[in-house]
Amino acid sequence: MTREERPVKRITHWIDGAETAAARPERRGEVFDPATGAVSGHVDLAAAADVDAAVAAAKAAFPAWRDASLVRRAQVLFRFRELMYARRGELAALISAEHGKVHSDALGEVARGLEVVEFACGIPHLLKGGFSENVSTSVDSFSLRQPLGVVAGVTPFNFPAMVPMWMFPVAIACGNTFVLKPSERDPSASMLMAALWKEAGLPDGVFNVVHGDKAAVDRLLEHPDVRAVSFVGSTPIARYVYETGTRHGKRVQALGGAKNHMLVLPDADLDLVADAAVNAGFGSAGERCMAISVVLAVDPVGDELVGKIVERVGRLTVGPGDDPASDMGPLVTGPHRDKVASYLDTAVAEGAKIVVDGRETPVKGGTTAAGTPGFWLGPTVVDQVAPGSAVHRDEIFGPVLSIVRISSYEEGMKIINDVEYGNGTAIFTNDGGAARRFQNEVEVGMVGINVPIPVPMAFYSFGGWKASLFGDTHVHGTEGVHFYTRGKVVTSRWLDPSHGGVNLGFPTNG
Ligand code: NAD
Repeated sequence: MTREERPVKRITHWIDGAETAAARPERRGEVFDPATGAVSGHVDLAAAADVDAAVAAAKAAFPAWRDASLVRRAQVLFRFRELMYARRGELAALISAEHGKVHSDALGEVARGLEVVEFACGIPHLLKGGFSENVSTSVDSFSLRQPLGVVAGVTPFNFPAMVPMWMFPVAIACGNTFVLKPSERDPSASMLMAALWKEAGLPDGVFNVVHGDKAAVDRLLEHPDVRAVSFVGSTPIARYVYETGTRHGKRVQALGGAKNHMLVLPDADLDLVADAAVNAGFGSAGERCMAISVVLAVDPVGDELVGKIVERVGRLTVGPGDDPASDMGPLVTGPHRDKVASYLDTAVAEGAKIVVDGRETPVKGGTTAAGTPGFWLGPTVVDQVAPGSAVHRDEIFGPVLSIVRISSYEEGMKIINDVEYGNGTAIFTNDGGAARRFQNEVEVGMVGINVPIPVPMAFYSFGGWKASLFGDTHVHGTEGVHFYTRGKVVTSRWLDPSHGGVNLGFPTNG
């Protein structure tokens, strides 16, 4: 079937183990094929009643799931991992069709998400508590970590499988039940994941999906039965979710936007740097929160480095995500593409120099990016960007790589630390001392040393600093386990035949 012949599909919610049509079916959103711009589906947008139904199902499922043995929970996770792995090609195709990213990149996000499932399979070990014998005479103390209840995840368009998998494997392994509100722009991946959970033997109601927009998120944030909310998305919405959720008494972790800088010292291997900058700047069309969007080139390497980057960009193939020859696909929606492209005019107005113009990039099967139907913009390189200008400062979230020329390490460090965001950064150098100084001084949560996209492995925790994270805990790893559980300390005394007698003094340990 060609992409033009595919029927327009309808995407419903997943509540209590089954596809569930919306309470008010007239509230629907359009899902696009970004490669053509055609509508490929309609997604139900939840009203409060849909969210309430999902939360009620999750609440009803909680007591039995909380009491399921650790070994049983781990076994369900193992089965889910195997099913996801077996169906990864299908999942990647769904992602690519709605997001636009190339198939190999979609497979990569599924693989990184599955690493969190694999981490969560170790939940019996991760939930071990502490035990102290004889804290007082014949008294023992032990600590437990127990699940919270119903928890929710609200996720962005750019990783429709991986970002939800930063959250739900750990939450469910800890004994919680989960309501996912994925991005309404690419909702289908979450439905396949829900079906695979069921096939893996997860009881109905433990994992639910409600699609929707602000109305759905607001209901989750105020719902009295939702105990915690994990959010990943743009900074203004992350701030809003954090403030609203905490005002309603919930535990909230809200990850926001980013503007990631790569600092290139003059002793760096410039071929390695150019490869890294192109991979990290244009992979997934720059729609990654860990994308490198600014290269800080310390004199005198600027001209040579820009030449190497431009040469590599010229070899990239831009085309539909399902074409194996494509290196880079389209952007997610028309308005997003237009917003990203508008920064090219801003760049010129701010005195920067466009050295590769993505509007003129050839598109496979089309003409130029600007002239082809669909949401196209090719890789764009902007040189001589001024620190503090809009192109430097704003999160553009597209295939636009800025080069800022600087004269010293200190100047680069100041530029990075003056930026509002603090998600990821990288230094490229062969000087271990400079790298060590960088890792110490930089105010950013995830740091790469000769590694352009330093995404932590599942057994570490992911999260930025400053306006890239609202809340105290990062996602997955041990911080994820901590976020989805709360501590309890039990002090117990099993009497032997001796008795204590009445004593109104404050207990001391003798
Ligand atoms: P977004 O903030 O527009 O949407 C994220 C989620 O919030 C979606 O589920 C959306 O439906 C919901 N939402 C949108 N507007 C809302 C509102 N007014 N009130 C309540 N909920 C609302 O983000 P996006 O465009 O889907 O994703 C891209 C953004 O996500 C970028 O800023 C990117 O940096 C960020 N991101 C950050 C990380 C990270 O780890 N820090 C990871 C991935 C993406």
